[in-house]
Amino acid sequence: MEARTIAILGATGSIGTQALDIVRRYPGAFRAGCLTAHGSSDKLFDLCREFRPDVAALVNEPDEIPEDLRGIQWFFGPDSTVRALLASKCQDALCAIVGIAGLDAVWHALDVCERVLLANKEALVTGGELVTKKAVEKGVPLLPVDSEHSAIFQCLQARQGNPVKRLLLTCSGGALRAWTKEAMYRATVRDVLAHPTWNMGGKITVDCATMVNKGLEVIEARHLFDMPAEKIDVVIHPQSVIHSMVEFEDGAVLAQLGMPDMRGPIGYAMGYPNRLPYDATPLDFAALGHLDFAAPDPVRFPCLGMAVEALKRGGSAPVILNGANEAAVGAFLREQIPFGRIAEVIDAALQCVPVTPIASIADVYTADAAAREAAKAELGMRN
Ligand code: NDP
Ligand code: MG
Repeated sequence: MEARTIAILGATGSIGTQALDIVRRYPGAFRAGCLTAHGSSDKLFDLCREFRPDVAALVNEPDEIPEDLRGIQWFFGPDSTVRALLASKCQDALCAIVGIAGLDAVWHALDVCERVLLANKEALVTGGELVTKKAVEKGVPLLPVDSEHSAIFQCLQARQGNPVKRLLLTCSGGALRAWTKEAMYRATVRDVLAHPTWNMGGKITVDCATMVNKGLEVIEARHLFDMPAEKIDVVIHPQSVIHSMVEFEDGAVLAQLGMPDMRGPIGYAMGYPNRLPYDATPLDFAALGHLDFAAPDPVRFPCLGMAVEALKRGGSAPVILNGANEAAVGAFLREQIPFGRIAEVIDAALQCVPVTPIASIADVYTADAAAREAAKAELGMRN
């Protein structure tokens, strides 16, 4: 069997490097034909040396390409990811860019790839209806990489046509799960980046601490599984062992479990419908002893409710939530604002930016720009 060619978009990130771990393990099954990054040129050069893609891209053009990598076709600049993807002619694309910056790549991957493996949840939060409609029209499967959605996708394999009563997304609670509201407001970047169970990129780790991440995932689930907001619930589960669950009409609940390791869901999407073994740590139930559950606290984690409300409002509301969050998280990571301001900025943007219909990708970018403007105004920042 010939190896499937895969484009790893966001190859230098947390998801990208773990996907390359799977490629490394199964050289006969996968070949990384295209690797892209934003500015981490040295890291990308090392990956290119090891994986020898046909095509590579960096948004920020480096001073020079090392001599031994000049046989690779290189692309630079803001649209370099998409140009590299198109030139590579890869069969699959793993979309692992962070933020709405990855939407364009997802959109174009649906034109040229046989399968799109989706980690970039913000692409669905912002372009949800357009992206899923295009995937159906093109007959391209959108395979979830996010652990909760991979779990639900796996549980749904046992559905056999039966209606689903509700989806249950589990949530670790993030680094500040047990903090008081007052202490949370002043939490530092270091406090927030110390995630208890998952090791991930900076932006998503902050999103876990605010629970914006779980809100984005409710919206992601709505689009991936065509499920109304009313049928998607969130439960806090600090051990992150149950990755998510599906409840059926007869009261049966199916869950997917495993140690928290993203190579599980990444490998499942890459190998689908086959399961690829990797060196997963087996679950030891006796050592775990207990699995805990709690309802999310709406007072300390208001962003989850804001996201669900934005989903219910529809139109550009989720785009506004996402854009304001990206702006606020950027400012927090640069240590310009306290952690507690993130929720205030999102709330302010949702209050003041008018919600408009989304009929095209251009409409998405217009709403995103308006949200970022509103966030800056709320923060008293200039361009
Ligand atoms: P990282 O920040 O670790 O990596 C992001 C990747 O995207 C890097 O390769 C980065 O390049 C590249 N990138 C960033 N900005 C741009 C841009 N404007 N244009 C092109 N490339 C860009 O993120 P994660 O891997 O943590 O997350 C990626 C996506 O997967 C996110 O949407 C996240 O929500 C989702 N996800 C992540 C999980 C995880 O465990 N990390 C779990 C579930 C979902 P460079 O290194 O050069 O900056
Ligand atoms: Mg997740």
